Amino acid sequence: MPRFLTVLDVDSTLIEDEVIELLAEAAGSHAEVSAITERAMAGELDFAESLRARVATLAGLPVAVFADATARVRVTPGVPELIAGLHAHGSVIGVVSGGFHEVLDPLAEQLGLDYWRANRLDVAEGRLTGRVSGPIVDAAGKASALREWAADAGVDLAHTVAVGDGANDLQMMAAAALSVAFNAKPRVRDQADVVVDRCDLSQVLPLMGLRG
Ligand SMILES: [Mg+2]
Repeated sequence: MPRFLTVLDVDSTLIEDEVIELLAEAAGSHAEVSAITERAMAGELDFAESLRARVATLAGLPVAVFADATARVRVTPGVPELIAGLHAHGSVIGVVSGGFHEVLDPLAEQLGLDYWRANRLDVAEGRLTGRVSGPIVDAAGKASALREWAADAGVDLAHTVAVGDGANDLQMMAAAALSVAFNAKPRVRDQADVVVDRCDLSQVLPLMGLRG
């Protein structure tokens, strides 16, 4: 049995929410942000530009919104089973997000993920500035993360799986040996090797010959 690396997208894959929308609710910009998210995930907008436009609407929010958003996140059914199933065979799991470390870090630690990477929100004097801090994790960044983690874990690229729902997951899905569209946008479903429509991420285990 080979060791696998499975890499998941976060928003609408590892979790049922879009974290930026949870933050936008606190900013009163939810309608605007969710319209941009929808267009970005359908591949109609450049991801980095769309992220900057959405983050700009969060300017002035206190950092307490991170804890509020973390508490409201709903983990997708089957995630604990997927993680346990991979770990039982010495395999590893990472998640890579166009969302934010501030909300992902506590979740990743609680779930026992092996790798995670996301964007960071710029903060000054306890409030969001409306800017992203550092390089943006975009479609190319997601594919790089998968390759780096495979090398780090000593897993051959032939034993990698990428799972996502949006257009910015397509590059990492192309980099992986097996790509899985999970409750995905039409463009992602069309390009994936496998489509999973049941809202249960443990369905990914049998694709690797593993049991839940
Ligand atoms: Mg997503």
